[in-house]
Order: sequence, then structure tokens, then C-alpha cells
Amino acid sequence: MCGINSMKLGPPIEVFAVNKAYLDDTHPDKVNLSIGAYRTDEGKPWVLPVVRKTELQLANDETLNHEYLPVLGLEAFSSAATSMLLGADHSAILEGRAFGVQTLSGTGALRVGAEFLARQLGYKTFYFSQPTWENHRLVFLNSGFTEPREYRYWDANNRTLDLNGFLEDLQGAPENSVIILHACAHNPTGCDPTHEQWEKIAQVIEEKKLFPFFDSAYQGFASGELEKDAWAVRYFASRGLEMVCAQSFAKNFGLYNERVGNITVILKDKQDLIPVKSQLTLTVRGMYSNPPNHGGRIVATVLNNPQLYDEKESIRTMANRILSMRSGLKERLQRLGTPGTWDHITSQIGMFSYTGLSPRQVEHLVNNYHIYLLKSGRINMCGISTKNIDYVAKAINETVL
Ligand code: PLP
Repeated sequence: MCGINSMKLGPPIEVFAVNKAYLDDTHPDKVNLSIGAYRTDEGKPWVLPVVRKTELQLANDETLNHEYLPVLGLEAFSSAATSMLLGADHSAILEGRAFGVQTLSGTGALRVGAEFLARQLGYKTFYFSQPTWENHRLVFLNSGFTEPREYRYWDANNRTLDLNGFLEDLQGAPENSVIILHACAHNPTGCDPTHEQWEKIAQVIEEKKLFPFFDSAYQGFASGELEKDAWAVRYFASRGLEMVCAQSFAKNFGLYNERVGNITVILKDKQDLIPVKSQLTLTVRGMYSNPPNHGGRIVATVLNNPQLYDEKESIRTMANRILSMRSGLKERLQRLGTPGTWDHITSQIGMFSYTGLSPRQVEHLVNNYHIYLLKSGRINMCGISTKNIDYVAKAINETVL
């Protein structure tokens, strides 16, 4: 027991602390490259047009009410989310071996999945990439996992994937370890395995009897194509592996604060589906009882309506803006003759770039240029716009020189 008045201050959550420092800064040229959210070229948050249109439709639909949803959420949402992930014609869906559960965004999906694995099935050890999204460790520990371990992922010298280190660490993992894998647009490095590399990773996971737990927070954000970005998950599922995948609709639908997520469960055997679903019902019941409706209904309406679904090209708009900021930044750094190589800015994908800037260089950018980014050198490409790209490039150039 610890008395409330002897409680120590918890450590700050870096990304929120940096974001607050940016908001408090009154400098006219300040730039926010920290928080993981999309911004337009005007630096504004964006409500996707198809989302706005659907919200208006729902607001006028008098058949809707505020009754509780079922514990596992809206079936129309979770089945559409599962199809978006796997493709509607995936064998796991056609054979009745896959299902979804609506959750509180991607974090909630990770939490439900992890708690189910730890408390219902007794899994203890989990592996996360070095580096990874800072919340994986906390979510899994709070869910009942007791053995956190890292696998090598990032080769800082060559600014690429450390495939050999990754495979070696998987080879050495005890049977039944849960392996957290970023489905695409790895956060924070923006560096994903190629198809051939994924095949090798899947091979070791299968041979060593490890349990793949995908985290898909950026489907559509990496390439602009939902299908392309789901390749790794679909490939693992097509090998017949038992697995789960946490999905977030925060970024690809811009529904950050609506907390819309799904956990897709893929089983080997169809007959396990009903008991697994019933146990997951208890996991959710004891955690938050049932999910909210609004965001899930928006996503379900869009995904289940072919005409609205086609209007979802906003994903491509977002992905393309990010790609053009990547090439614009690289081009400027090269033109300025900034020391070092900058090809990684365009070879990395998704929202983030792992710039390779050191903590001291980051500090210099914050103090001298009011450009806010994480200590690791991770930047959110969406914070760059046609208005500030020259300023950012010159600031990085002066900092590196
Ligand atoms: N996983 C990764 C890798 C992320 O980057 C994020 C958000 O930044 C999430 C999961 C969860 O996001 P949310 O809970 O907002 O859906």
C-alpha cells in the first residue's frame, strides 16, 4: 500500500509534453512536428468530407437512438472493419474463422487483445520492436503480461531495418511469446519490412511457435491504398497462423477523439470461434462494458455503402500530401548541401520520419527555431507545409552544419 500523500509524480508523456510546449510558445514561426495527427497544408486538423457527410445523415436519422450497443459493439462495424483488414474474400473470413470486436480505438484493441491473451490464455512474454510506439509496453504490462522484451528492428547506422537482428531475436524467443508487429508505417521509424522480409519473419514466427499480434494504426496512410497497406496481415493470415490484429480508425478516418477501433481475431479452427467470442465478451464486460456508438456507426456506414466508400479517397489525399512533403524536404536539404544522406526521408513511409537528428540537435531546433519534435528525432511529416518547409529545411541545415 502507498498512501495518496506519499505518491510520486508520474513521468511526463513526452509527446503530450512537447505538444503543450508548442501550444504555449508564442513565436510566430513555431512549427509542431511532434503529435501524430494529420494536418492540412494550412496546419489545420481535417474532418474528412465523407465523414462530415455521413455525420449529417446520421444526425437526421430519427430511427437512431442512444441505447447501449452490445458488449462486442456494432456488428455492422466490426465485420466491415475485419473485411477492410483482410479483404472480404479472404479464406479466414469465408471459412468463418475470423471475427472482429469493436474497441476503444487502436489502444483499446491492443488492451482487449493483450488482456485476453494474458488473463484467459496465460501468455506472459511479449516482444516489441526497438524502437516502438511508446505505449506498447505500458498497455501490455497493464493487461497482465509480466515479461517485456525487445527485438532489434532499427539499424541506426544505415538507417534501415536490422533484419538479421530481428530474426535472431525471434529465433531466441521462448515458445508462446507474443510478438507485436506494426502492420505498416512503423511508428516511429517509418521503415517497414519488404514482402520478402515479411516472409522470413513469418517463417520464424511459425517455426518457433510464437504468437503474432499486429498493430494496424495506419492502414491506407502508408501508400494511400488500404489493400497494399494490409499486405503483411493478409499474408500471415493466409499462412493459416492464429493471430490477432488491433485496428485504429483514428488516422485513416480522422476520427481521433471518437475512439473507433477493432480487434480482428483469426483462428485456425472455426469451432473455436464461439467460445473465444464468449470469453472476449467477459474481457470487455469487465473493462468498459460496451463501446460508444458514434464513430463506429460512421465507419460502418461508409464501409458498407459502396458509393460512400469510393468517396474515401481522402486517404489518398492525406497520403499524397505526406509523400510530397517528404520529397520536398529531402530536395531542399540536398540543395542546401546539408551534411549526411537524406534518402531515408523518402524511403520511409507513413506519417513519421526518423530523421537521425540527435537529442542535442533536437534541443537546438526547439530552442533556436521553435520547431518541436521528439527527442528521438522523430518528426510528423504532416506538421510540414508548403508555408514552413523552407524554414524547416534551413533550420535543420544550420543545426546539422
Ligand atoms: N499503435 C500505433 C503504432 C500508434 O502509432 C497509435 C497512435 O498513435 C496507436 C496504436 C493507437 O492509436 P489510437 O488509440 O488513437 O487509435
